Amino acid sequence: MEPDSAVYKTLLESTKAIPWKIDWSTMQFAYIGPQIEHLLGWTPESWKSAEDWAMRIHAEDREAVVNFCIAQSKAGADHEADYRALTRDGEHIWIRDVVHVVRNDDGSPNSLIGFMFDITERKKTEARLIELQKELEALSYRDGLTNVANRRMFDSALEVEWANAVRTQSSLSLIMLDIDFFKQYNDHYGHIAGDACLKQVAAVLSEAASRPKDFFARYGGEEFVLILPECDDKTALQVAQRCRKLVVDAALPHEKSQVADTITISLGVHTITPSPMDQRMSFLEQADRRLYKAKQLGRNCIAVDE
Ligand code: GH3
Ligand code: MG
Ligand code: MG
Repeated sequence: MEPDSAVYKTLLESTKAIPWKIDWSTMQFAYIGPQIEHLLGWTPESWKSAEDWAMRIHAEDREAVVNFCIAQSKAGADHEADYRALTRDGEHIWIRDVVHVVRNDDGSPNSLIGFMFDITERKKTEARLIELQKELEALSYRDGLTNVANRRMFDSALEVEWANAVRTQSSLSLIMLDIDFFKQYNDHYGHIAGDACLKQVAAVLSEAASRPKDFFARYGGEEFVLILPECDDKTALQVAQRCRKLVVDAALPHEKSQVADTITISLGVHTITPSPMDQRMSFLEQADRRLYKAKQLGRNCIAVDE
């Protein structure tokens, strides 16, 4: 049994997708489902020509979508296009237009038949997913407490800068620093105050390195690290001095420190112009060794290469 045209009409006009037909020779709408009015506010009668369709596409999408659809239609290729359709009251709705090209015997286009789908919700979900992905990436490279770069980010940054320094044969400096007597700070003021102190020290130290390439991270616990690309030992020492001074000037009280009555840091500075034979890990170890030396020298001071 063949369904009659009334059946087709009922089916077409009761779906959520909006059917339409354009005659290729006149570029006039032969048909558009009445649902269009509910979706966009424009009456079916107001869809006269392909021009009406084009003018109801968001200006930023219009040219690309129209050009794409014309090219595909001329080539006789079925296609689909996502675009923002303007509603009568000035809003827009994301549409996916799925187009079938009906061809004449000689292959030239006879008419275009399509369905418009409302994909606004899907687009919103997609946009939110992209946003979440970005947030997640940002979070996974950021230290949760201090909001500066974390160890993972430091590892990536050092890998990149090390390779750069090897390639360009430029000097690379590293400053490792550690808060003095921080265990006593926690014991005396409590862990919550200790966390707040770490945040403040991180914020203060973020200001220490001024060039855009300089990279500051929380290495772990109460240790921080600075990567200074294209920076010789003298300049690195100046940056370390600035770090030490910034922390002293912040004047965060530390009654139980044995070197001052405020929070202080010890710093190790190491500089290298790495050859391909050098090891990144031993570069890190050397800086750590300088830091250890600064602790031995009495803390609140800087140890450099001999
Ligand atoms: P030194 O001068 O030799 O560095 O002595 P120190 O007490 O600072 O060194 P130590 O490594 O023995 O102690 C570091 C302390 O830092 C121990 C740990 O409780 C504290 N710490 C590490 N991470 C955090 C943190 O996220 N929050 C708080 N509140 N304390 C932390
Ligand atoms: Mg410490
Ligand atoms: Mg430590």
